Amino acid sequence: MKSIIIYCLLLTSISSAQNKTPLISVDLMITHAQILTMNKNKKVYEDGVIVVKENQIIAIGDKNISSKYKAKKIIDADGDIAMPGMINLHNHIPMVAFRGLGENGVDNRLFKFFFPLEKKLLSRDLIRIASRQAAMELALSGVTMVADMYYHEDEVAKSVAEVGIRGVLGETVMQFPVVDAPEPYGGFAYAKKFIAEWKNHPLITPAIAPHATYTVTPEWLLKSKALAEKENIPMLVHIAESAGEKKLISERINPITDDKSIIEYLKDMGFLSDKLLAAHVIFLDKNDMKILKKYGVGISHNPKANSRAGTGISPSWKMYKMNLDIGLGTDGPMSSNQMDIFNVMSYAASVARLPSKDQARFTPYELVDMATMGGARALDMEDAIGSLEVGKKADIIIVDTDAANTQPNYDPYATIAFAAYPQNVTHTIVDGKVIVENGELTTIDIKEHNKQWIPLTKKVAEFAKTLE
Ligand SMILES: [Zn+2]
Repeated sequence: MKSIIIYCLLLTSISSAQNKTPLISVDLMITHAQILTMNKNKKVYEDGVIVVKENQIIAIGDKNISSKYKAKKIIDADGDIAMPGMINLHNHIPMVAFRGLGENGVDNRLFKFFFPLEKKLLSRDLIRIASRQAAMELALSGVTMVADMYYHEDEVAKSVAEVGIRGVLGETVMQFPVVDAPEPYGGFAYAKKFIAEWKNHPLITPAIAPHATYTVTPEWLLKSKALAEKENIPMLVHIAESAGEKKLISERINPITDDKSIIEYLKDMGFLSDKLLAAHVIFLDKNDMKILKKYGVGISHNPKANSRAGTGISPSWKMYKMNLDIGLGTDGPMSSNQMDIFNVMSYAASVARLPSKDQARFTPYELVDMATMGGARALDMEDAIGSLEVGKKADIIIVDTDAANTQPNYDPYATIAFAAYPQNVTHTIVDGKVIVENGELTTIDIKEHNKQWIPLTKKVAEFAKTLE
């Protein structure tokens, strides 16, 4: 590796001496990469170069462009794939502390495991430490942006920023008392404070997360929307997640007449907005899709969590083909266990193809598009992230194509969507900073982290025994 780097620098200086043009100083250059830009023209560079200055991509092109630059750091990708960092649109990352509990066919897992665990164990410390653990996993798997909704999102923010990935972090608002808000809807005041503290952070976008249609009244949904618009921040909500959701809304919140869908109920209330990122969105028809498109609502498609819970199959293919802003998410680690997006791409194809018996649903390119630009569009951040283009933020991952499972690499999109594992990610770069290098995190001292994480898991294990 070292000799190759010196060779590159030598070539750079020889060609520059010939041209007599001064070299442009930059921070980072990735060379010899098979680059999937995910730009509008679907441009792929077979032996390409990405040039980064500070936190921006300032040039991208064939190998010959490298001769114009003098970089502080060069990463020779040696033929591996470089692509935009992936976006996980729906998660509850602190729940990684409870991953793997209550998995053995427990009935009513929500009431027997989720709620007692949260009630007994949630604290600022647990949320911060577990979020660090989860953010490390995300970074190592090539996720450079996560949308999260939970409690004490200021603690989540600290850890996400410490690991160095991006986060759209929504503080939960709901009608029950919760860990960080003893009053019903106390999350709203908490969110206001959180937003004020974290707004304008380079990695963190604070957001508000009215939990779901059946746990938040129209009054509080609309208050949340007004806040999102005033602060120009995203709003994260679970919508049309289960077959019984309309009944739940009618019983607990507001009667909905039979002729109205959940999406129409939200539209008539005046809640829909381009600030909204809706998670799941399984139970809807074509008219509902047109409404979501009209209002520019972003959608997180979470096929792995939905099939694991047996809730239903989202009409994701129709939404994608209608050009809705749809990307991919995992949902929390108690619902989906793995947090990488490689897995989700593969699931998205399987759940679209199986009931329709149509193999053409979701080509590998379309899956990678949902994992990158789709997520960026859903968050209204497509001008900043989601593709590798000049002027965009330098959120880049490198995926090893010499591993046993990524050979042969005839079609790089198929390699990424169907063959690659998260462990094939060798480098993760966010905002121009290399946070994973040769498969190792550069930002966190894992030994130090484990001094907090291991005792935490022991405490969780002790309490979980009482729930069985
Ligand atoms: Zn969720």
